[in-house]
Amino acid sequence: MSRAAAVFACPYCGDDNLFPHEAEDPKVRAAWECRSCMRAFAVSFLGQLRRGAASPHPSPDSRSPEGRSAEGGAQA
Ligand SMILES: [Zn+2]
Repeated sequence: MSRAAAVFACPYCGDDNLFPHEAEDPKVRAAWECRSCMRAFAVSFLGQLRRGAASPHPSPDSRSPEGRSAEGGAQA
């Protein structure tokens, strides 16, 4: 485990033209630069998930989009 997690695609443009980026901040360990959109970004570890604590896929059904549009919807 020399390097932190490898990134396979740019989170901004989705390209895989990624290279390790030397960040000026020594605290930034897993920094990458995308040479397609010329962005540099870092991958940071936030913490360990507990099993069963988080649902792997937030279901779109739990939040109905109708509740959102009803607020600003036309009221005649
Ligand atoms: Zn990119």
